[in-house]
Amino acid sequence: MNFEAIQQDEKQYMMQAYGRFPVALVSGKGAVATDVSGKEYVDFTSGIGVNSLGYCDEGWTKAVSVQAATLQHISNLYYSPLQTEVAKTLCGIAGMEKVFLCNSGAEANECAIKIARKYSFDKYGEGRQTIVTLVNSFHGRTVTTLAATGQEVFHNYFFPFTEGFAYAKANDLEDMNQKLTGDVCAVMMELIQGEGGVMPLDTEYVQAVAQLCAEKDILLVVDEVQTGVSRTGHFYCYQGYGITPDVVTSAKGLAGGLPMGACLSGKKTADVIVPGSHGTTFGGNPIACAAALEVLSRVASPEFLREVREKGDYIRSKLSQIGNVKEIRGQGMMIGIVTEKDNAKEVAGKCLENGLLVLTAKTLLRLLPPLTITYEEIDRGLTILKETMEATL
Ligand SMILES: *Cc1c(COP(=O)(O)O)cnc(C)c1O
Repeated sequence: MNFEAIQQDEKQYMMQAYGRFPVALVSGKGAVATDVSGKEYVDFTSGIGVNSLGYCDEGWTKAVSVQAATLQHISNLYYSPLQTEVAKTLCGIAGMEKVFLCNSGAEANECAIKIARKYSFDKYGEGRQTIVTLVNSFHGRTVTTLAATGQEVFHNYFFPFTEGFAYAKANDLEDMNQKLTGDVCAVMMELIQGEGGVMPLDTEYVQAVAQLCAEKDILLVVDEVQTGVSRTGHFYCYQGYGITPDVVTSAKGLAGGLPMGACLSGKKTADVIVPGSHGTTFGGNPIACAAALEVLSRVASPEFLREVREKGDYIRSKLSQIGNVKEIRGQGMMIGIVTEKDNAKEVAGKCLENGLLVLTAKTLLRLLPPLTITYEEIDRGLTILKETMEATL
């Protein structure tokens, strides 16, 4: 099948939910993907931060195929040693108490929202249900997580949205203080807004919000769906901010390419979920768990985290020598690039033609390379990026 035939079928048979780049990818190894015609692409996207170990990593492939040939699914009516191992490992790495396993970032956030509201209901009764999120945030595509998302463009068509969200300006403590009224049960935030344009929060701001929340018994929920699983050079980004959230959500890179989300709770909220209050059919699927165990065994060590920071610094220093680069934001291997010509979309399209996959976020170029990318692959990609960027100047 050639690309045109695939594109034609996509148009005819798939709901047109996505604006896709004109390429059909069929295989990959490390940080290099291959399209249906055999052309190679250096991948600086890792499937939007999902393939943390790159394409078809040896250990990951083995863990997944062995598990697929052993037991592919049970239900959550039965115990699973793989689930308990994932939960125990995650709690150890994150310093949290308990885990709920699900299948996506939006689901992890749904779980966090339910926990926040039930925690408050159990303790204070009705009337304390509002969750404050940040302007420009992104928390998912379900009707409730769209409501949680602090961007007006997402609040269309699907009315009525779930009530009980308020939006505070990022890095504006006074605005947050004003929004923390008596009806608020939680604050939910990304520490580096990913889809919002790789916008980091200030450390002082985050620490002050954490303090305010603690004083008022308002839960602090940190959405680590994009920033988590070593992406920023810390296993979870909050570990570099000097705070301990009450609830953490995780997904994207967690199982290295299989669907898995997790909602982690600290001491306060560890017992909020009781039988009957939450559940999922697929969540904690054995194959996804086997994949996650492989990822967790690889990416959480201090040496690996240091490597992520070093590779990120290396990429940043090379980027700063490229024409058309105006500003570089982010942390570790979560990198946003503001271009002089404000032409990120054009650059991303041209990169594809030249054999490099990059993302955009708002008006920025965004790089989320696999965490295991080699320096050779980085150089190969950056050479293409440099030529492409400078050709668009
Ligand atoms: C991607 C993302 C989500 C949604 O995750 P899905 O797996 O697509 O549901 C939520 N929050 C943040 C910060 C994300 O980057």
